[in-house]
Amino acid sequence: MTSKIAIIGSGPTGIYTLAGLVAARVPLSITVFEVEADAGKGTPYHPDINDQAMLANIASIELPPICENLVEWLRRQPDLELERLNVARAQIKEREFYPRIVLGEYLQSQFQQLIEKGIANQHVIDVRTRHRVVDIKLQPDDIQLTVRTPDGERKDYAFDHVVMATGHDWPETTEVKPGYFVSPWPARALKSIDPGSIAILGTSLSAIDALMTVSTAYGAFYLDASGQLQYQSSAAGEGFHATMMSRKGLLPEADFYCEYPYAPLHICTVEAVDALIAHGSASLLDNVFDLFKRELAASDPDYAASIGLSLLTVETLAPAYFAAREAMDPFVWAGMNLAEAEQNKASQHIVQWRYAILRMHEIVARAVPHLDKDDLKRFHKSFKSVFIDDYATVPHQSIQRLLALRRAGKLDIIKLGNDYEITTDGVARGAVIRHDGTETAFDAFVDATGA
Ligand SMILES: Cc1cc2nc3c(=O)[nH]c(=O)nc-3n(C[C@H](O)[C@H](O)[C@H](O)COP(=O)(O)OP(=O)(O)OC[C@H]3O[C@@H](n4cnc5c(N)ncnc54)[C@H](O)[C@@H]3O)c2cc1C
Repeated sequence: MTSKIAIIGSGPTGIYTLAGLVAARVPLSITVFEVEADAGKGTPYHPDINDQAMLANIASIELPPICENLVEWLRRQPDLELERLNVARAQIKEREFYPRIVLGEYLQSQFQQLIEKGIANQHVIDVRTRHRVVDIKLQPDDIQLTVRTPDGERKDYAFDHVVMATGHDWPETTEVKPGYFVSPWPARALKSIDPGSIAILGTSLSAIDALMTVSTAYGAFYLDASGQLQYQSSAAGEGFHATMMSRKGLLPEADFYCEYPYAPLHICTVEAVDALIAHGSASLLDNVFDLFKRELAASDPDYAASIGLSLLTVETLAPAYFAAREAMDPFVWAGMNLAEAEQNKASQHIVQWRYAILRMHEIVARAVPHLDKDDLKRFHKSFKSVFIDDYATVPHQSIQRLLALRRAGKLDIIKLGNDYEITTDGVARGAVIRHDGTETAFDAFVDATGA
């Protein structure tokens, strides 16, 4: 009998699942349920929730190809379509970053091609858009899904297998109090912010997304005669000023050049970590940390010496890793780091310590589900931040835009430390931030921490 499979959600997880299933030799009956009207774009890449100014931080070279890779797909788009997507043909390169909505279009095209491929391979594929799965029941012989159809009816379906690929979920209303936004998405909500003082909690890619949405509502980025990106506010945007804030007050670093597919590691390998996992959770974190240190020291001895790696522990690695950056003005650091990243990209130079941490991130992650409660806390408290910082680098253009806003006098960064308060008490709009004995009122507040 043909297996009946449901995929809930048609974002990247649903699409890669479908890619695996359509390759099966036995015919399958696959139903994809998607709450959105257009299937195959995924939440972070959908035009309804993103602004054209928001950039994805994943390049074609990093994306496992589905039917074709992103660059191949872009190259075969007609000029008019590229113009609509805001992509210059000369900029189609495997390491280039594009607006999020470009990824949405690419993914949707891959989704459609997979359906055609699946049908040609004798599978039955049924895509139900505007269908929200509202309940799942595991029954003795099958799995029952309750689905809300576009006309509001509830219908039950039975499947042999169900894949939940529902991804992200944000609140319907993000402005929970006047001028106080709990999420930067959907982006269109931020367009209603008046051009006053805006606080953005967070300095990562999400916070940059929020900043780009408001700054492009009140001005524009342009290249000056020397080729440097500048920002000019519109007449209506004169009063716009943004302050990004985080505990450390650091900006993410610029995307760094490295080799794909990843060159193999020699010490902190899948086999070595799996062998430690097999010995149980006692001392697992410290033993994995030891592999991490040995691999990092072997990859880049000078860097290891510069942060005193040999004496560092799970607790002290992150302070040592961030120390030089924390000691410097974040914009000065960003300018220097961008220049270095641009030069390394041009000369195809790999900074070995960055590359080693990047490659170790997924390997160390294998141990995380096996850590005991105390070690898991230790991992989350500090060690994890090094991996996040290393892989959450941002497109060079994002750093150029931050620096342009800074030069235009439109952007500050505050280091909040651990002791701060954000309150809406006593203000009609926005929020008040208290830290370090100071109190600042903002006309609008956006939480871009993803919390
Ligand atoms: C704002 C944001 C930006 C990001 N940017 C990047 C980036 O630039 N680079 C990167 O590498 N990663 C990025 N990520 C990481 C991101 O998690 C992945 O890139 C990817 O979107 C995850 O895919 P997914 O299919 O699991 O989830 P999603 O993309 O969220 O897709 C889930 C799908 O399921 C549907 N759905 C949800 N619930 C139901 C239901 N009950 N019934 C039916 N359908 C349902 C949704 O409509 C959606 O289409 C970003 C994440 C966020 C939140």
